[in-house]
Amino acid sequence: MIKPIKFGVIGVGHLGNFHAQQLKKIHTVRLVGVFDLNSSLCKKAAKKYDVFAFNNINDILNNCDAVSVVTPTLSHYKVAKAALQSRCHVFIEKPMAHKIIEAEEIVSLANKNKVKLQIGHIERFNPAYRAFCKTLRKPLFIESHRLSPFNIRGSDVAVILDLMIHDIDLVLDLVQDEVININASGASVVSSFVDLANARLTFNNGVVANLTASRVSDKQMRQLRIFEKNCYSALDLHVPAIKCLTVNDKKEIKNSLIKVKKENALFLELQSFVQSIITDTKTLVSGEEGLNALKIAIKIQKIIEKQKNN
Ligand code: NAD
Repeated sequence: MIKPIKFGVIGVGHLGNFHAQQLKKIHTVRLVGVFDLNSSLCKKAAKKYDVFAFNNINDILNNCDAVSVVTPTLSHYKVAKAALQSRCHVFIEKPMAHKIIEAEEIVSLANKNKVKLQIGHIERFNPAYRAFCKTLRKPLFIESHRLSPFNIRGSDVAVILDLMIHDIDLVLDLVQDEVININASGASVVSSFVDLANARLTFNNGVVANLTASRVSDKQMRQLRIFEKNCYSALDLHVPAIKCLTVNDKKEIKNSLIKVKKENALFLELQSFVQSIITDTKTLVSGEEGLNALKIAIKIQKIIEKQKNN
């Protein structure tokens, strides 16, 4: 019989509530309690999930083996650092931090304290992406569109750190090579930060990824198109679904729809994190991978900001 992992959620705003909800469904987890700087939100969530409402960060850390950090991005470093110093296993929502130096320190603290660190790049657990990865051969060109209506939540950072970082992580995972060149442009439309951005990443092996992210849209769209030799796959990460066009030796084109089982990606990613704690294995989205995605995101952001200032 495995002893359940004593788990806590720090930050129970919009997404933190979903963390608590999904953690309650994992049979190897005992959700001990929650902590939020907003004490009324903290008590409300504690009541809803029938767990303890901690009054301060030290109390939740002293009573847990692992925590989810679901506070706004600007506070990830401070909260994650306290958790890692308490030798808790830490799941941090994306982006792992808003500065590279902070993300580097988070990675080194996790290594030093020998605890698990996973970053919430949830699209890795998207059923369409998982189904596609089973068939992937060799991408030649990738295109992504991630559009969303404006929401004040997340607008404390540029759209690159808020939305595009999901696709940066996916293309780094798909291509598994070094980015050697970046072209980017974007604009601030609603917030004082960049609200829409386009970036073209060129990898060492010649693969090109063209990424577009916008939070100034009237609709939601999360699409990833992957071109391989004799094959084109369009992944709708929102539905989720995959459409494929394949070409045979006679140059005949065949259309097909790959069935994707609907699954809760947040449940899968938290379950995967818990499993890596139990089995003492590498997390599926490691701190190093979160850091690599952040490095590219910040390069894109700097290119766009430089153009804005000219
Ligand atoms: P939110 O504003 O709804 O919730 C954040 C909560 O954290 C608030 O209740 C706030 O009171 C609390 N808080 C702030 N500082 C704190 C601290 N130091 N200690 C404890 N509590 C603190 O925000 P949200 O939309 O839930 O986003 C939270 C994080 O999740 C962000 O980093 C965001 O980028 C990420 N996020 C990820 C996804 C995804 O697809 N993986 C989606 C949405 C949000």
